[in-house]
Amino acid sequence: MILPGATLGMLGGGQLGRMFTTAAQTMGYKVIVLDPDKNSPAGIIADQHICAAYTDESALAELAQLCSAITTEFENIPASTLAFLEQRTVVHPSSTALASTQNRNVEKNFIRAQGIATVPFVKINCSDDIDNLGSQISFPAILKVATFGYDGKGQIVCEDLSAVYAAFDAMGQKECVLEQRIDLEREISVVLARGQDGQITPFPVAENVHINGILHSTTVPSIAAESLQQTAIEMASKIAEGLAYVGTMAVEFFVSKQGDIIANEIAPRPHNSGHYTLDACRTSQFEQQVRMLCGLPAGNAELISPVVMINLLGDVWGNSQPHWNKLLTQPDIKLHLYGKKEARAGRKMGHFNVLAAETSQAMELASQTFEAIK
Ligand code: ADP
Ligand code: MG
Repeated sequence: MILPGATLGMLGGGQLGRMFTTAAQTMGYKVIVLDPDKNSPAGIIADQHICAAYTDESALAELAQLCSAITTEFENIPASTLAFLEQRTVVHPSSTALASTQNRNVEKNFIRAQGIATVPFVKINCSDDIDNLGSQISFPAILKVATFGYDGKGQIVCEDLSAVYAAFDAMGQKECVLEQRIDLEREISVVLARGQDGQITPFPVAENVHINGILHSTTVPSIAAESLQQTAIEMASKIAEGLAYVGTMAVEFFVSKQGDIIANEIAPRPHNSGHYTLDACRTSQFEQQVRMLCGLPAGNAELISPVVMINLLGDVWGNSQPHWNKLLTQPDIKLHLYGKKEARAGRKMGHFNVLAAETSQAMELASQTFEAIK
């Protein structure tokens, strides 16, 4: 076990890295963040910030030398970067686990190989692949760039075949996946921790609402999704085992109108839909990440209160600060801001968690407060 006093490394300086840093520092660890941005949310609160590219081998060697163990908050860290670090120190998750989740085609094939359903999809590498689609996909469909997409970016809805050619051109003819667009009943996710001994500790299943492809709210417990919880946790666990995953990870699921559970994507890191755990569970997803990295047993993941999490995007700022007084005067609302200097539309600036005796009360107070602060 790696014990307090030791130094942990974090690849990536975004809000997920920041909340890991806070959790680790609370427990008495030191944290070094490596991120190329000198104002990164995690870098500015870490014990040390190595401001360098993820491919800078001398910076990586320095990080490995200073850290007892290294983890990441960002799935697009090159797998070769993790492989380089694995030669030098403890790294979780592994470069191979990360490599299985970085490309949407590879990821979907991996999920299917575990016997878990995905939406119908076809890899699109060149226009011949579109010529040969036949009836594999029916419309509407969504063309998604295979790598580096997030928060709904790099996705184009296609109503017919000709739109797919246009969308592929608009993507610069980079590798894509063409997915069937599903009529969604709802979206859910499972965040879990998996230890070096293979022990899995899932958090309660979250029900998520996305707006324009970006997470807007998470509700737990999800009464509607109650009957699906066990199946979703089993599927996510199977994926974690298939990846030999160590750390905190998440699987996003679609629930179709027919009630089928379909895996959407894997996050090899803590997940936005797990931010409710910061205030509503005995252990947060970030403390769990610290614990898994350090070889400690998982903390208790039990829910202590119904909760609704609302994301705060830069849109809420407009030309001025949100009306924080409307939020901070509520005794059961917890505000988390990420320390980002510039509020841009669609940029995740923070979130708040609303706790209440009943889910329905939390939902009501969450939407009232969200309207009031705008
Ligand atoms: P990202 O990596 O940007 O989160 P996702 O593939 O998770 O990309 O897509 C973002 C959101 O867009 C999903 O949570 C869902 O609301 C919607 N979406 C994406 N793919 C589909 C699909 N095949 N059918 C229906 N909705 C989809
Ligand atoms: Mg997603």
